[in-house]
Amino acid sequence: MSGMLYLVPTPIGNLGDISQRCAQTLAQADFIAAEDTRVTLKLLNHLGIKKSLVSYYEHNKAVQGEKILGRILEGQTCALVSDAGSPAISDPGEDLVRLCAQAGVPVCAIPGPCAAVTALSISAQATGRFCFEGFLSTAGKSRREHLDSLREEKRTMIFYEAPHKLEATLQDMISYFGADRPISLCRELTKLHEEVIRTTLGGALERCSQIPPKGEYVLVVAGLPDAPAAMPEAADVTAHLSSLMEQGLSRKDAIRQTAKDLKLPKNAVYEIATKEASE
Ligand code: SAM
Repeated sequence: MSGMLYLVPTPIGNLGDISQRCAQTLAQADFIAAEDTRVTLKLLNHLGIKKSLVSYYEHNKAVQGEKILGRILEGQTCALVSDAGSPAISDPGEDLVRLCAQAGVPVCAIPGPCAAVTALSISAQATGRFCFEGFLSTAGKSRREHLDSLREEKRTMIFYEAPHKLEATLQDMISYFGADRPISLCRELTKLHEEVIRTTLGGALERCSQIPPKGEYVLVVAGLPDAPAAMPEAADVTAHLSSLMEQGLSRKDAIRQTAKDLKLPKNAVYEIATKEASE
């Protein structure tokens, strides 16, 4: 009988954010796979849990992943935690989930803290449609390709970034999205110095030069706004109105219908119709 992999989200700053179900899963698992065992040990001590820990991080994930899978296939349950937030979101957990899924091992994700979603919800940007872009590469070519692919992106974009790279990232974003693009810099979420700076890319860059960035950041960048609809020529509006009135519509109904057909504000059509009548 195979065991199970549990994805256990952990607080992104405030230890009070650990849920009862997460604590219970950590206490009941046969072992915990942690990105940094020292970080996880602090959390376990806080919760009064003693448990066998194995490390699973970017540079040992290939070897450790197989070992962890082997133990699960023997029937053990593993709780996977990252340093903070939801495992598998911009951390090596992604690979372990794939490995387990391919081996037919059941994977259970427990909902909980995630820096991206916490930032989006507090950003005051549009939340109806969004895309998660993770960290931009530091390698010039893939970084440029990534940003270039987002030039026309209309959805709100969420990025992770380290404080010492923030200034360069803002500079690059300005080249691709323009200095006027709104951004919410969500800093130190759930911590003592939590701060949300709602500004533009240009404003954020200027601020960086005055106050050196410190702490953890999520960048929530507005998508490309819809281009304003081009205003049709007054003559086209008048022609549309006249044709509707010839079909028997009253002037009032023709104005309403023209506004609807040409996607214009009713008062703009009314003004054109009035001007036309007085000439
Ligand atoms: N898997 C985690 C999650 O989704 O919550 C994120 C892991 S990723 C390696 C770490 C990045 O998340 C940081 O560099 C930062 O961009 C963001 N982050 C984590 N905690 C944060 C916090 N308290 N406030 C703002 N950003 C945070």
